[in-house]
Amino acid sequence: MKTNHVIIIFIFATILTACGNKSSNNQLNSNSEEERVDVTEEEWVEVTEEVEEKCTNCFGSGIINSDCSECGGCGYKTHYQSGTQPKSCSTCYGTGVIRCQQCDGNGRCQYCDGRGSFQCTVCHGYGLIVLDVNNTDSWFRCNNCNGTGYEKCSICGATGKSNCCDRGIATCPTCWGTGLHGQENYSYTQKEECLYCNGSGNVKNHCFNCNGEGTVIVERVVKKKKSELE
Ligand SMILES: [Zn+2]
Ligand SMILES: [Zn+2]
Ligand SMILES: [Zn+2]
Ligand SMILES: [Zn+2]
Ligand SMILES: [Zn+2]
Ligand SMILES: [Zn+2]
Repeated sequence: MKTNHVIIIFIFATILTACGNKSSNNQLNSNSEEERVDVTEEEWVEVTEEVEEKCTNCFGSGIINSDCSECGGCGYKTHYQSGTQPKSCSTCYGTGVIRCQQCDGNGRCQYCDGRGSFQCTVCHGYGLIVLDVNNTDSWFRCNNCNGTGYEKCSICGATGKSNCCDRGIATCPTCWGTGLHGQENYSYTQKEECLYCNGSGNVKNHCFNCNGEGTVIVERVVKKKKSELE
């Protein structure tokens, strides 16, 4: 494309040389009415000239802006997604675990209340079996607790910890620990930038009228004095 397209109107070579040879007629070439009167006696002929003009379709730019056909000119595409997906378990709020209901979440052995032992059931915690309070010979050590007064809790293996759960936290019985239970519907829209127009919404095409040149050659019938032509 030519940079100085604004003043592009030139006459092609054959016409130009004709003018050059008749330099004495320069004054008469003027389009002014007054001077045209002076040459009425000369014979006028119609000639066809080829003239390069600014393309009116693209105003000389060679480019036509038009709405992007991919996105309808808005610059983005909208995707709509819907379907069903696993729902978060409402029992455990999606965590997969709940507070143990057997031990109320405290994780302690219910039999020994977490102590790992309890008062000896034979000597009631005294460590001694007393048959006659006044006769110390009748006192003997409790074999059940070896004189300690305490029995180890056999339910929890003397750990004091409950067997029902891990430190008060149990697997959710509703979702079996997955955190998901049931299905729910979802839908959302997503905007994606149109790659075809880079989000601008319009595309630049070469002007079909001038093939992107910005100028077109037109034929024009002009009147010339016969003396100008050879
Ligand atoms: Zn054009
Ligand atoms: Zn687009
Ligand atoms: Zn659950
Ligand atoms: Zn428990
Ligand atoms: Zn216990
Ligand atoms: Zn005992």
